[in-house]
Amino acid sequence: MYCPFCSAEDTKVIDSRLVAEGGQVRRRRECLSCQERFTTYELAELLMPRVIKSDDNREPFDEGKLRSGLLRALEKRPVGMEQIEEAISHIKHDLRATGEREVSSRMIGEQVMGQLRGLDEVAYVRFASVYRSFQDLSEFRAELDRLEQNLPEQEKG
Ligand SMILES: [Zn+2]
Repeated sequence: MYCPFCSAEDTKVIDSRLVAEGGQVRRRRECLSCQERFTTYELAELLMPRVIKSDDNREPFDEGKLRSGLLRALEKRPVGMEQIEEAISHIKHDLRATGEREVSSRMIGEQVMGQLRGLDEVAYVRFASVYRSFQDLSEFRAELDRLEQNLPEQEKG
């Protein structure tokens, strides 16, 4: 890119590093004409769909909210940050892959449950119990029954 100070065409990258958890590249550049230095940030332009809430209001997709929901469900569970970030990436990928400009918050909730189910069953039940309590009690009950049947037999005596 052109130098923002003297508009010379030739600038060189003197430092390049990943920032924002690898989501951006920060480059330090120097102009070969005037020797001024400046910084550029590069990020992929991938827009997330907007979220349709249950009251029909729309709001921007909020990754922070998604992360805190997962962290709350996974509190004191043996699941590392790396796995949590992977789950978030999966969810974002799947939401983008719908190709829709708007997705329902319910759909995001289902995605979260899908990820939690693979990570940790206790976290899954925690999330599902909060999320499903107003929507589908019978389905939740069936899920609990399924989990109980899969638990190992308690040793007796
Ligand atoms: Zn310059």
